[in-house]
Amino acid sequence: MYDIDATHDPKLKSWVTSANEAGCDFPIQNLPFGRFKRGGIEGGWKIGVAIGDKVLDLRAVGLIDTDDMNVVMAATPEARQALRRKISEGLREGSAQRPAWTRALVPQDECEYTVPCRVGDYTDFYTSVHHATTVGKQFRPDNPLLPNYKWVPIGYHGRASSIGVSGGSFKRPRGQTKAPDAQVPTFGPSKRLDYELELGWFIGAGNEQGEPIEIGNAEAHLFGVTLFNDWSARDIQGWEYQPLGPFLSKNFASTLSPWMVTMEALAPFRAPFERPAEDPQPLAYLDSEANRAKGAFSITLEVLLQTAKMREAGEAPVRLSATNTTRAAYWTPAQLVAHHTVNGCNLQPGDLLGSGTLSGPAESEAGSMMELTVSGKNPVKLPNGEVRSFLEDGDTLTLRGWCAADGAVRIGLGECSGTVVAP
Ligand code: CA
Repeated sequence: MYDIDATHDPKLKSWVTSANEAGCDFPIQNLPFGRFKRGGIEGGWKIGVAIGDKVLDLRAVGLIDTDDMNVVMAATPEARQALRRKISEGLREGSAQRPAWTRALVPQDECEYTVPCRVGDYTDFYTSVHHATTVGKQFRPDNPLLPNYKWVPIGYHGRASSIGVSGGSFKRPRGQTKAPDAQVPTFGPSKRLDYELELGWFIGAGNEQGEPIEIGNAEAHLFGVTLFNDWSARDIQGWEYQPLGPFLSKNFASTLSPWMVTMEALAPFRAPFERPAEDPQPLAYLDSEANRAKGAFSITLEVLLQTAKMREAGEAPVRLSATNTTRAAYWTPAQLVAHHTVNGCNLQPGDLLGSGTLSGPAESEAGSMMELTVSGKNPVKLPNGEVRSFLEDGDTLTLRGWCAADGAVRIGLGECSGTVVAP
């Protein structure tokens, strides 16, 4: 597990002065990775690190010799920590690199972004017991939480090709739906389009097929985390999900934030992994002393909505909900990696593990519209008088996340936004 070191020192300041402003997502203690290019310029994606309101081009300053993020992600923990140290030292106040590195900085608002790495495979988990219970009640009132939930980190294999980056839009999906009282299904645009507030954990170094990753070594195989919105068509889901799980209700689009906050950067925000005493404790392959002591992470998350009408009126997005991962996640990232590979399944650099919808215990912590509105029965009233049961065309949904702790500088995950357009 990555520990606090000199790169987390709260006294560190950067010569990129915007990084030192209170509330900045990208202070020198963060240093998240993404892929960018200057807007309107031909050529491939470059690997950059966010610092303040700028992006540092890592190849231009000679710290890497590749444009392939997945190669950078596959490095050993020692190599990754060495790279982080060099970036931190070069960006510090007083660094001799300043004149040369200044030329390798690009303002973030002049950049285009893409998904931060090549995602080969994508798995979505279901790690919030609150989400699983609330949604389970809606799909199966008599049997909300299935008996395996507290033993097995539940997941399914999703689709990587339709994952896009923040700032994009996607068409409302069409599909088959069937009302509970209808005899036969109908076909048309989804009327119950929803978002899911999730984190995406990225795999760094992979494992050979047949060689499980033990929980004690799991974090050496994790690269970092992004915000992740798993758009979901609830009416399509309700009709298709049995017996094999979600399919067309999920695979039409998902959205990631442009930045991967590394496991190293998360070190000051670790938290104990705790289970209620009355719940089953994890089986041995999902348990370790280190995981119990500090396998979880404290990440605050919020969901914001801006309708087309709000945008036209120049009104700021409104917050729909907020929670913290320590209140929402029933499993740690290390447990997800150990479970995913325990049967011999191989993971590869850039594979994405979705956390599942991160809903906390309170209603105000709901990570989806389906929970927030109780499947549309209690629509959300917005300040401008509009109401929402589910998402409408023109709605922009934004996820934000950040970490804060005593004795540490706050770091942010940036934002993950996407807009629904008519089919
Ligand atoms: Ca999901």
